[in-house]
This record gives sequence, structure tokens and C-alpha cells, in this order.
Amino acid sequence: MARSRGTTISVKVPINWDAMTKRTRQRLRQIVGRDTRVIRALLGIIEQNENNLLTGRKKNKIHDGKLDELTLTAIKVRSGHGKRSTVPHDIKARFPRISTNELQECRQTAVSLYESYLALREKKGWNASRPTAVNTTRRIPRWVFIQRFKLEYTTSSVSRWWLGLRDSLDSVQEGRTIHDKLNIPLKVSPFHHNQLRRGEVKACQVFADRVGKWWVNIAVRVAIVEIPDTINPPAVLGIDLGIEKAACTSLVSPTKVRETRYFRQKDKVEIIRKYDRLVADLQRKATSQPNNAGVLRRLRQIRHKRENVACEYDRVLVRNLLNYIEELSEKYTVYVAIGRLKNIRNAARKGNFKGRGFRGMIHSWAFARITESLNHGLAQQGWSVSGKNTRFRVVPEAWTSIMCWKCGTKGTRPKQNYFLCPSCSHQTNADRNGAINIAGRLIMLTKLLHSVRGLGKWAISVQAGKRSRLKARKKKPSKGKSLLSKQELISSSGESAAVHFAQTSLFSFGDKTRESDNDPAVVKTVETLAVVGSDDSTQIQEKEARSSGGIPSQ
Ligand SMILES: [Zn+2]
Repeated sequence: MARSRGTTISVKVPINWDAMTKRTRQRLRQIVGRDTRVIRALLGIIEQNENNLLTGRKKNKIHDGKLDELTLTAIKVRSGHGKRSTVPHDIKARFPRISTNELQECRQTAVSLYESYLALREKKGWNASRPTAVNTTRRIPRWVFIQRFKLEYTTSSVSRWWLGLRDSLDSVQEGRTIHDKLNIPLKVSPFHHNQLRRGEVKACQVFADRVGKWWVNIAVRVAIVEIPDTINPPAVLGIDLGIEKAACTSLVSPTKVRETRYFRQKDKVEIIRKYDRLVADLQRKATSQPNNAGVLRRLRQIRHKRENVACEYDRVLVRNLLNYIEELSEKYTVYVAIGRLKNIRNAARKGNFKGRGFRGMIHSWAFARITESLNHGLAQQGWSVSGKNTRFRVVPEAWTSIMCWKCGTKGTRPKQNYFLCPSCSHQTNADRNGAINIAGRLIMLTKLLHSVRGLGKWAISVQAGKRSRLKARKKKPSKGKSLLSKQELISSSGESAAVHFAQTSLFSFGDKTRESDNDPAVVKTVETLAVVGSDDSTQIQEKEARSSGGIPSQ
């Protein structure tokens, strides 16, 4: 079954613990405790048998069927399949108070936990903390799918909203098929209500947080809004992330470059510089007095503070970008391209925040944070953010800052933000030039946009897109020596040149438990996003005067 499209948001609703009876509390604790033990057991089994269970092209998925062969006896089998009367780890025998469906949900939770660990391991190597090694007192809630719970609205004086959870703790042992129901009162606020109404409720998770407060985490799938291409004309917004200007955006419509905006965060640059100086001083001290614990502690503190400040500014930036995109969406079907910074980490190590290395202040993690939040924010607005017709792409930034957007020649940058083309004498702000080129990349990579007739950058990019696809098909390497053909070389890998942010949906649910697939590790993204403020004061937005003559006259 194909996975359903759409993005999933999670809505955290507090449980009205005080309104619960002693028995219900006890039950809930028992259920969550049992689930935790089952999930832990499964995680242990997966870890022990990892080599046999890995599947998929990249060997980063767990084979559900093979896991079942290890853990579940099978008496009723389809013809052609052998019965399994004994298995190495009989979970059902070990945990007699769990129903088959609940067990499947536990398995699903364990598998997705393990798979997100595998993904992490791929990135971080064996330093990634194993799911089996986490604090043993922490409970792991299972994802309960919609078939086994209900959100109910009542007129009861105790609570308006209730979570009706199927409780099979006793009935399984007694062999009853109709299970009891556990009614959990919820504190649903208008905010929660609005969030819940945005889509279809798919699953939930009951858990207690660090301070012992109980919550229900409800997964709601928001439907994707199809592109209303008959209503608004398309336009592409290119985003160039930078330092002095936190971001520069250019809106490219089929006929011309519409507008450019600079998102400045001046105090950020100053504050970060201040912290960087402090860090540098402390580092010098630390090397001269290697045993001074106070210096090291202070160094850690300062680094932490610097990080927090950067995070806060990034959040504001993303919020402002999203507001701007929303505003543009009233007139256009907006596509968003953001330039991927390359090797910026290394550049940061080399430079002392001067010259080229200056850009290093945007670290790769900051970049990932910004793109991920943007991606998420757009998905929440109902955008398609992955696949062929994605409206959000991360495109390689190579050449975008130095190539003239009008004629494609290599230009010069006599000053940090001044771009001059020696070939067509076009002069503009260097960030603007970059942003337009980034928008062009998206047009080039999005086949859907090629059918829209355009002028200037639009037409050039469509041409380049067609050429690169042709090349990709022929698989002939470009051997040209001019810059233009170098650009083609970069793009000749065709569609794959763009990095799609596939991590859109927190987890996609199939309609049956078996097809579902989740990634609890990603839930955090939504949580951080939910706190994004709309504080604009830290930054000045400038709107460039509309280019009067369109592309040819500039
Ligand atoms: Zn030029």
C-alpha cells in the first residue's frame, strides 16, 4: 500500500490527572509500564539479531516479518506457510497481558525507534546512543493507532473531552474479545481544538514527562493542498543565507525579477562576535593553563550561551520568512528554493571570521536548523515539500554567488556585497544576485515550471533544465571549459542535484497498523516550531524598489 501523502503534526494535550479515579490512574500506569517492558524486550531482541533483521537498499530498515519469526508463534497460517509452534523469543508467553494488536503497536514503536537509531548511527558513527542503553527508569510509550482509541466530547461535568482507550489487560487472559475501555479526561483548550481540527487524528501516545505530568500526544495528519495553478501564477523565491544580512530573498516570476528583500539581524552579528571573542580568549587561557577547571567550565558556558542566542535568532528569521511567504502566496503560487552552503564548517575553522571564512558563522547545523524549520512551516501550511512537484527545495549553492544571473559569466565582487559582471556590465547586490540564481536552480529542476512560458531568468533556467535532462539521459560528461559548461556539469546529474528534504512528515501512517511508519525522533521539530514567536523587533526588513523595467532593462 502506498503511503498516504501529507504531513503530520503532533498535538500535546495535558491529561486532567486530578479528575481521574484511583483505579484509572493505576490502570494507565500499568498499561504504560507493560508497554515499556514489551518495547524494551523487542529492542533487545532487535539489537541481538540486528544482522539478520536489516533490510532495504541501505540496510537501514528492520524486516517486520523476520522479527515476527523471532517473536511470534503462528498457529493460523495462510496455505503455503509453515506453522511456527516455537520461536526463540516468545513475547506472547512472556507478556500474557497484551493483545495481539497492542503487541503490534509496540513492535511498530520499537522498530521505528531502532530505525531512527540506525539513521543516527549512519551519521554519527557508533557514538549514537543505543535505544537499549537509555535510562531504564524512563518509560517508552507505544503509539496507539486510531482503531484502538477514541476522542470523545461529552457534557459530563468532570471533563468535556475524553480519551477512550481500549484496555485489554484483563480480557486477554480471560480470552474475551471485547475489551474494557479506559476513559481518560483531557484538558483540551481552544488552541488544541483548532490543531486537532486541521486534519485527521491518526494515533496517540500516552506518557508522563520528566516532572511526572501526564500527556497525550496526538498525531494529526494535515492534508496537502493541491497547487491551485489556475488561480495564482507561479513565482519562485530564492533564499540566500548570509551573515551581515541574515537572509536575502528574490522573487522571480515568469516575466521578471519581482522583488528582493533583505532580512537583517544586525545585533545578532554583534552578539555572536562578542561571544566568539570570549571563546577565543578562553581558549587561549585554556591552552596556557590546561589544568584550570574554572576556565574550561566558563568556556562551556559561553559556548552554550552563544548557541542559544543563535537558535533564538534563527527562529525569528524563519518566522519572518514564513510570514513573508504567506503574504506572497496571496498573489502567487510560490515555490521556495534555499541555497545549500557547502563545506562551510571547514571554512569556519580556517578563517578568523574575516574574508571568506566570515561566512563560516553560519555553521552547517544552523543551516540544517533553518531549512528544517522552514520545511516544516511550509508543510504545515499544506505545501507539498517532497517528491517531484515539491514546492520547497534545497539546491546546491555552487556558483550561485559568483555567476551573473543575467548572462551566466563569472563576475567579480569588488566589495563583500557588490557584484559586477565584466561581460554584460550588470551590477547589483551580491546577495541578490545569489538569491536570483538560487531561484533559477529551482526552476531548472522543476519540470512542472517548464511549461510556463517566461522571460529572462525564467527562460534561461528552463533552457538549462531541458539541456541538463537531455545530458543526464545521454550520460555524456561535459568537457567544456567555459564557466557555463561547468555549471552544466554540476547540474547534469539532473533532478538528483537538488536535496529534497524528505523528513517532512513526522511519521506517515498507512491505514493499517502494519503499514505505518513513524519516527519519534522527529517529533521534537514540531515542538520547537510551536514555540516560534512572531517577534519582529530584532530585525529590519527592507523592501527593494521594484525593478522598473523587468529583466531586460536592468
Ligand atoms: Zn552578466
